[in-house]
Amino acid sequence: MQQAAPLIGIARLAAQSTVISEKRRIEYRTLPARRWLNRCQSARVPFDWTINPYRGCEYGCKYCYARFTHEFMELRDPAAFETQIYAKDWNPASFHEELRSAKPGQVIGIGTATDPYQPVERRLRLTKSVLSELLVLEGLTIFITTKSNLVARDKKLLKQLSERNQVGVTITVTTMDAGLARLTEPYAPRPDLRMRAVAELAEAGVRTGVIANPVLPLITDSEANLESVAQAAKKAGACEFGAHVLFLQPCAQRVFFPFLAEKFPQHLRRYEASYQSGAYLRGAYPERIEKLVNAIRERAGIARRDRQNFVPEPPPGSQMLLF
Ligand code: SF4
Repeated sequence: MQQAAPLIGIARLAAQSTVISEKRRIEYRTLPARRWLNRCQSARVPFDWTINPYRGCEYGCKYCYARFTHEFMELRDPAAFETQIYAKDWNPASFHEELRSAKPGQVIGIGTATDPYQPVERRLRLTKSVLSELLVLEGLTIFITTKSNLVARDKKLLKQLSERNQVGVTITVTTMDAGLARLTEPYAPRPDLRMRAVAELAEAGVRTGVIANPVLPLITDSEANLESVAQAAKKAGACEFGAHVLFLQPCAQRVFFPFLAEKFPQHLRRYEASYQSGAYLRGAYPERIEKLVNAIRERAGIARRDRQNFVPEPPPGSQMLLF
């Protein structure tokens, strides 16, 4: 019988990790981390550094593009991304050392791959620990992206961090329709709870924006849907609003297409045709959505939100859309 190749790197560390706890659907493990502050030199994302305290995300959004990150650990079942959550081993002293590399003017993105305020953060407080250490920095820009209202827990810390750095929180809300959100983002907090967190942060003086990413063609792309998110964001005190069309890598397609087949079978063929040759859509459809979002934003009286959008820009020559 042929022997399996030995695991190396992050896959070996994941295989050797220890279970911290389990709940009905999810197993939590610790993961040794060589670094917490990861250098990001791609011109297609607006960060110099990224920090992701967790690997995997139990919110289980059907369109999540980060599922591929579990494949680095040889976990190829796309469901493992939302049921096997890894918390990185926290060592404040070595993180403090790593922070010496971050220079004024640079940008740190927190939660660029998985949600830094997913439920286990309530107990482990890794994101909060990171923010506490970041207080030594001065002159940097620090962005946090989340779907969780738990971020409001850290409003005082975020306000303190913003005294010497530019700090921005972005909360993702794709729809105000709780039923639709329950389908597409089954374990994430309700949209109204997320908007309440926007209001709490804004009241505390923390710069907070809302993004309706991803815009799901034929599902969340109506003017009424996007307008309701923008208006709720404005009412909650958000200072920015933005929305970009779905980016759907093959690993995400393996979850999203069966989801469509079950819940939106009438749209499946158009999605398959549109995303068959790549993750991005180009052409008239995203241009129309961009104009629509601009008009909605102007009507709501809310600024454009661009820089914190960490979904990479499409490479030149990606495919034409069919929507
Ligand atoms: S909250 Fe973000 S990282 Fe988590 S499953 Fe949803 S899209 Fe993925």
